[in-house]
Amino acid sequence: MSALASIDASALLPESLRADFPILNDDVLDGHPLVFLDNAASTQRPRQVIDMIARVYEHDYANVHRGIHTLSERSTEQYEEAREKVARFIGAANSHEVIFTQGTTGSINLVARSWGETNLRPGDEILTTVMEHHSNLVPWQQVAAKTGATLKHVPITEDGRLDMDAFAKLLSDRTKLVAVTSVSNTLGTVNPIAEIIAQAHAVGALVLVDAAQSVPHMVTDVAAWDCDFLAFSGHKMLGPSGVGILYGKEALLDAMPPFLGGGSMINEVRLDGFTPAELPAKFEAGTPPIVPAIAMSAAIDYLQAVGLDAIHRHEQALVDYAYEQLSQIEGLRILGPAPEFRTSLVSFAFEKIHAHEFAQVLNDRFGVAVRAGHHCTQPLHRLLGLSASTRASFYLYNRPEEVDRLLEGIAAVQAMFAPRGRKRRSQQQYPTPKVGSEDHRNRIVR
Ligand code: PMP
Repeated sequence: MSALASIDASALLPESLRADFPILNDDVLDGHPLVFLDNAASTQRPRQVIDMIARVYEHDYANVHRGIHTLSERSTEQYEEAREKVARFIGAANSHEVIFTQGTTGSINLVARSWGETNLRPGDEILTTVMEHHSNLVPWQQVAAKTGATLKHVPITEDGRLDMDAFAKLLSDRTKLVAVTSVSNTLGTVNPIAEIIAQAHAVGALVLVDAAQSVPHMVTDVAAWDCDFLAFSGHKMLGPSGVGILYGKEALLDAMPPFLGGGSMINEVRLDGFTPAELPAKFEAGTPPIVPAIAMSAAIDYLQAVGLDAIHRHEQALVDYAYEQLSQIEGLRILGPAPEFRTSLVSFAFEKIHAHEFAQVLNDRFGVAVRAGHHCTQPLHRLLGLSASTRASFYLYNRPEEVDRLLEGIAAVQAMFAPRGRKRRSQQQYPTPKVGSEDHRNRIVR
């Protein structure tokens, strides 16, 4: 249906790298080539990562930091090397500022429970935004309920960018923490993190960045940002599931109490108490995700060999192309801002077709895997007057032809659903907010 004329072909990565990803060449769908556009949920893994996982289990595996035997020494060494590699990858000064957790969710909960419960009091304010993933909302709701602190939300503009004027007005000396996503997993919006951090620091607030959707796609430099806390997941950046990272400034982490108690996080235990270990062990109670953490090394090596800037350019070309093509489809509403303010994904909703029905047909008839639902951003969907949307999210192995396959699928689904005129489940499950209501106030329009 569409011509590839408008894509910036010079920005594309070589198609040959697809050969590194066994699953892309597997017969997942009985003869359909797989078009995997669900990368914001979790990416696929290259052979190099899979091989490293197998190699560690076959040759180097034992528990870390425990045994005085060869295998434990080997796995400990590789585990700590991975920590150093992660630290360099995000621009952290010290590897002990990198804590291995089980994911972005685990990292944010660690900060909410450990820092939040220790430092927040009634009258203090936590500032998040209406575009946050549930992982960066619910832990703050929980900590606010426990401490008596107040939770406030930065609204978005009509086109789905963070309302920076409203942000400036919401900041005050009561603000103790700003918890914000670097890239919205629903709108694709890239937030001005350096500016947000500078403004927050000016009122004495700390900043936690939910970087789940940015670390895999663009260069991260916590030192240049002067970032206090940064959370992200291995499985969204070619790494294994089950491992995530919390970066925290040394002085902050040092002053925080341990989150989980148990083995490994102690210096000494008596029957009447314990003394915590130094960083990073203090926050890694129990047996950590040993092999997933080690395999992060292979994922980072792969990303660096391709180059984060090259990956970003490639994805931007795909997003520009998808956005341009999707915006020409009648009855389809794109969520979020113009391509220059977004990255790596496009979510959209149809007037007459429910996202789940659409995604099902797309999978079954066209081999296209997209995400359908609220993408763990129910408050944002509610503000947009939607219960669900469809999200196509790209990574370094996607091709423009796959965007075309998505477009073909959309045309076919629209043709399937349109002529019958049957009443379908409505996208408008949540009413558009009433004027004057809290949801309406959050839905600031410039
Ligand atoms: N934040 C954002 C912006 C995300 O996209 C996700 C994953 N969808 C998460 C947090 C949660 O990540 P995880 O499930 O790996 O903990």
